[in-house]
Amino acid sequence: MYIAAPSPFGACATDPKGAPCVDALANIQNPFYLGDQPGGTQVSGWLDAWTPAPSAYAVKARSSGDVAAAVNFARDNNLRLVVKGAGHSYQGTSNAPDSLLIWMRAMDKVTLHDAFTPQGCEGKIAPSPAVTAEAGAVWIDLYHAVTSEAGRYVQGGGCADVGVAGLIQSGGFGSFSKGFGTAAAGLLEAEIVTADGVARIANACANPDLFWAIKGGGGGSWGVVTRLTLRTHDLPAFFGGAWGAIKAQSDDAFRGLITRFLAFYADNLFNPHWGEQIALGPDNTLKLFMVCQGLENAQAGAVWLPFFDWVKASPQDFSLSGSHGAGAESGGPFCSKLMRPSLVQKRSRVHTLIAKRSLAAPLRVGFQRSGLSP
Ligand SMILES: Cc1cc2nc3c(=O)[nH]c(=O)nc-3n(C[C@H](O)[C@H](O)[C@H](O)COP(=O)(O)OP(=O)(O)OC[C@H]3O[C@@H](n4cnc5c(N)ncnc54)[C@H](O)[C@@H]3O)c2cc1C
Repeated sequence: MYIAAPSPFGACATDPKGAPCVDALANIQNPFYLGDQPGGTQVSGWLDAWTPAPSAYAVKARSSGDVAAAVNFARDNNLRLVVKGAGHSYQGTSNAPDSLLIWMRAMDKVTLHDAFTPQGCEGKIAPSPAVTAEAGAVWIDLYHAVTSEAGRYVQGGGCADVGVAGLIQSGGFGSFSKGFGTAAAGLLEAEIVTADGVARIANACANPDLFWAIKGGGGGSWGVVTRLTLRTHDLPAFFGGAWGAIKAQSDDAFRGLITRFLAFYADNLFNPHWGEQIALGPDNTLKLFMVCQGLENAQAGAVWLPFFDWVKASPQDFSLSGSHGAGAESGGPFCSKLMRPSLVQKRSRVHTLIAKRSLAAPLRVGFQRSGLSP
């Protein structure tokens, strides 16, 4: 299907008070909106490095056949080709002026398997529970299908609107990767259209070199991924975390706090249970945003008790914010809270808009010059 790929903010350059600009600015409250625009990028560029620039032409792919047609067309006509999933590239590699865009977003079907065996691996690799996602899916599509609906776990990244194919091809690290490995480590199989326009299956038994290469070489290096199958895991029985903010009263005390925390991390948190982050602030604060899996409430609390006790023992050096602590609760209810219904609704609102747009314009592979192209 051919579409224009204008910048969603193009109208703001000429008429900042007009309805199209006001609409676009209002819509960016929805975290999925930009990723669902063919000319949108989630990153606003890097100063003196790159500036978002929509492609001159775009193909809205609906199948690996569409992707192959676009790859062949670009090769035969010597066009610069870019591929976009959800547009989160920090390096700006999913947009370029004067390019042909293959936009994957409409291919977002997700299918669960009880026992998946990669093609050609029968008798070599034991079947395992898995999930297959078309390459335009974003992580919330998988988290919703795998965890909310099927009560299982799949390792992805922290940001629900990042593209599945883009993250896997960059390796992909998430809050619980110390327990479950990188997202790419869970890849069982992919379908990928290579530069000769052929859709190939890559797994441990078929095209194993390609399979190895797409697990971290960077998006688009080896072809256009159209489908990925990832291993799923039993949902951990417990999820939880640690939270709070500690303010040091002097620079010396802050140095002592950081030293103590790093030793505490090495001894107690550098293991498969704990992930996420801390933040060190210029106002001598250490903020905790940690999560854990596989520990009961009492276990999670016990891990942090000595650290909080150490902080409380020196009130002249440190003050703890009112709300601090560590704990856990059973996996299912915790995930339901994490999968905020509003987030799923926002995703499906944009999803519905896209589906309507597709119905209005029937599927054809072709090209159309965008109004904003250079
Ligand atoms: C807000 C934010 C949060 C993030 N959180 C995490 C995180 O928790 N963990 C983590 O590991 N990373 C994280 N990242 C990094 C992210 O994983 C990478 O930027 C990833 O490449 C984005 O994929 P995308 O589809 O969203 O972006 P895009 O810009 O669409 O694609 C990224 C690259 O992959 C290529 N590509 C996309 N789809 C395909 C395809 N189907 N076939 C071939 N090439 C393709 C594009 O051409 C581009 O080069 C985050 C990035 C942002 C901006």
